[in-house]
Amino acid sequence: MPWFGMDIGGTLCKLVYFEPKDIPKCEMTSEVETLKNIRRYLTKNSAYGKTGHRDTHLQMDNVIIRGITGTLHFIRFPTSEMKNFLALAKYKGMATLVTTVCATGGGAYKFEEDFKREVNMKLAKFDEFDSLLKGLQYIDKNNPTECYYWANPTDESKCAKVKYDFSRPYPFLIVNIGSGVSVLAVYSATNYKRISGTSIGGGTFLGLCCLLTGCNTFEEAIELAAEGDHTHVDKLVRDIYGGDYERFGLPGDLVASSFGQMNSRERRSKVSRQDLARATLVTITNNIGSIARMCAIQEKIERVVFIGNFLRVNPIAMKLLAYAMDYWSKGTMKALFLEHEGYFGAVGCLLQFHE
Ligand code: ADP
Repeated sequence: MPWFGMDIGGTLCKLVYFEPKDIPKCEMTSEVETLKNIRRYLTKNSAYGKTGHRDTHLQMDNVIIRGITGTLHFIRFPTSEMKNFLALAKYKGMATLVTTVCATGGGAYKFEEDFKREVNMKLAKFDEFDSLLKGLQYIDKNNPTECYYWANPTDESKCAKVKYDFSRPYPFLIVNIGSGVSVLAVYSATNYKRISGTSIGGGTFLGLCCLLTGCNTFEEAIELAAEGDHTHVDKLVRDIYGGDYERFGLPGDLVASSFGQMNSRERRSKVSRQDLARATLVTITNNIGSIARMCAIQEKIERVVFIGNFLRVNPIAMKLLAYAMDYWSKGTMKALFLEHEGYFGAVGCLLQFHE
């Protein structure tokens, strides 16, 4: 019985595979041969078809789950490729193994019938926020460098990732930036509530970026944004005041109106795809940052953990969040980040499974 945890989200499907260190000696039957082949296929490759990827840098060795030592592998593919994934799983012989797979996220419901029909797999469904929290606690406990913050986020020469000791975490806020955004307030290992959310999230960034720049992938959108200048697109306080708005402490380079320059035909003619991508990233990120801050104030919580795949290969957004949380809270709030940013739900549902 292979150990999989799946988090089937609105954009990406996250698949976590636990590979036991000591393979049972009794691997003789044809069923076990299939298992071996699947294990080999998953652990010897880092790309599956055109769109599946294994995040080898996130792999966790020598972890213990239900008394068994093994390795956790982290794999992702677009949820839109689910049909191809199921076809591949069938081709690899999954349907011959009577299996249950742990699943969470909306797709656990949406694709339940397809799993049964195509690969004879039953989905053991778990709540996505329960899974998220369980996975987060487990991974943080097992990886000493999981949690970090950004020091000097606005100074390129001094900016650095710094390890953060998250061993006494409560209370804290989780801001999960996936296709949309959910905000959870966590008071203890088992006591939490979903306090807010917004539909303006990672999916919005990617959707708008594709519309505005003609790009086609998240990686492309981030590369464009890295080369752009949002001040060509946004209207800043200094564009309105000629400098700072001193009375209320608003600096001149603060965005007063996101995309506020784009009503001018002349400005539009000068703006680049890179500028538009950067402005989209800054707009979405700052909006999430201010919602997070308001939630933190309302709950009287100082530590805010940002997770979700929007933060993948996205230091610009992380540094913006780090700066904004610190600046607007006058140093009382801290933005924290986790290395396994998008995988906690998939790990958490695997941990909850009972054979
Ligand atoms: P969900 O569970 O809603 O799919 P995720 O936490 O997986 O949420 O995050 C999805 C978001 O991550 C996308 O909206 C996009 O902003 C970002 N993202 C990061 N990498 C990719 C990728 N390879 N393909 C698509 N979106 C990606």
